[in-house]
Amino acid sequence: MTKKRLLTGDRPTGPMHLGHYVGSIKNRVRLQDEYECYFIIADLHMLTTKNTPEDIFDIRTNAYEVAIANMACGLDPNRCTIYLQSAIHAVYEMNLFFGNLTSVPRLSRLPSIKDMARAAHLNEMPYGLLGYPVLQAADILMPRAHIVPVGKDNQAHVEITREIARRFNFQYGDVFPIPDYLVEGDTLVGTDGDAKMSKSIGNTIYLFDDAKTVGKKIKGMYTDPKRVHANIPGTVEGNPVFSYHDHFNPNTAEVDDLKRRYREGAVGDVEVKEKLTIAINNFLDPIRERRVEIEADSGYVEQVIYEGTMRTNQIAEETLMMMKKAMGLTGVWNKISRKGRKRLDKQQKAAAAADGAQL
Ligand code: ATP
Ligand code: MG
Repeated sequence: MTKKRLLTGDRPTGPMHLGHYVGSIKNRVRLQDEYECYFIIADLHMLTTKNTPEDIFDIRTNAYEVAIANMACGLDPNRCTIYLQSAIHAVYEMNLFFGNLTSVPRLSRLPSIKDMARAAHLNEMPYGLLGYPVLQAADILMPRAHIVPVGKDNQAHVEITREIARRFNFQYGDVFPIPDYLVEGDTLVGTDGDAKMSKSIGNTIYLFDDAKTVGKKIKGMYTDPKRVHANIPGTVEGNPVFSYHDHFNPNTAEVDDLKRRYREGAVGDVEVKEKLTIAINNFLDPIRERRVEIEADSGYVEQVIYEGTMRTNQIAEETLMMMKKAMGLTGVWNKISRKGRKRLDKQQKAAAAADGAQL
C-alpha cells in the first residue's frame, strides 16, 4: 500500500531551539515512517515579513541550520524529503491560481496574519502577508499532501487550504485530496516564564547551545517569585523549571521527588536547576554529537537539500500539469501554439524557398 503524504516545515529565520523540538520536530521524527514525508524549508514565507537583501542572504545559513537541526534530532534523509521552497517554481504558479479561489475578507479575518504584521512592526498589511495562507495552500497541495502537522497558530491556515482544495476540485475536477491537519506538540514556555520560547524574545535554549551556555541560561531562569528562601513551599504548576523537567528529564522518580520537596519547601532552586542542567545536557548531547558526525562529511547537508528539492520539483511539475489540464489552460495554449507554430513553419519554409530561388 502506498503511504499517505505529509507536509510540514519551518521558516529559515534562525537557529532552532527546544520549543521547536517540543512543538514539532519530536513529532516529525515519530511520523517519518508512517507517511511519505516532505519537509519544507519555507524561505518564501520568510519574505512576507523579512525581505531585505541581508535577510535573504541569511537564508543560506538559516536553511542549513533548519536542515541540520531536524537531521540531528532524527529526521533521516533516506526516508524523507527535505526541500527548499523557493526552488520549486511550480509553487509560484499554483499560488496565483489559488489566489482566485479565496477572498480578501476571508483572509483578512485571520487573527494570525494580523499578529504577524504587528510582530513585524508593519503599519500596513502587505499583499504578500495577506496571501500567506494561499501560499501555504500551494505548499500543501503541491505534493497533494493528505496530512499537515501544524502548530495551533497555523490550524486556521490549513482550514483555508481545505477550502481551496474543495473549491478547486468542485470547479475543475478532482485533483487534490482534502488535507487533514494534525495539531501537534506542546507549547514550551521560555526561560523567562513569561511567554512561549521564541528567538525574537530571547528566552531560548538552542539545540546547539554548548553545555556551559545551557547551564548559564538555566541558572538565570525564572522560578516561583514568591519563594525567597529554599524553605518556603513553592509552586510547581506553571513553573518553567518544572515544565522543562517534565519535558526533558526522563528520570521521573527524580522529578517527582524534586516536585514533592519543592512543594514542602525542602529543596533549593539551585539543586532543581542543577539537575535540570544535567537532564537537558544529556538530552542535547546526542543531538550535538550527531551534528559533528553530519558535518564531518562536508557538503552532505547541501546534497540532502539539493536531492530533496529535485525530487520535489518533479512532483510539483506533475501536480501543476494536472491542475492546468483540469482547468483547461493547457488546452488554450495547445490550440494557439499548434496553429501559430504551423503558420510560422509555413512562412519560414516559404522564405527559405524564396531564398533558394534567388540563388
Ligand atoms: P520568531 O521569534 O522569529 O517568531 P520563533 O522562535 O518563535 O521565531 P517560529 O519560526 O515562530 O519560531 O516557530 C515556527 C513553529 O515552531 C511554530 O509555528 C510552532 O509550531 C513551533 N514553535 C516555535 N516556538 C515554539 C514553542 N515555544 N513551543 C512549541 N512550539 C514552538
Ligand atoms: Mg514565532
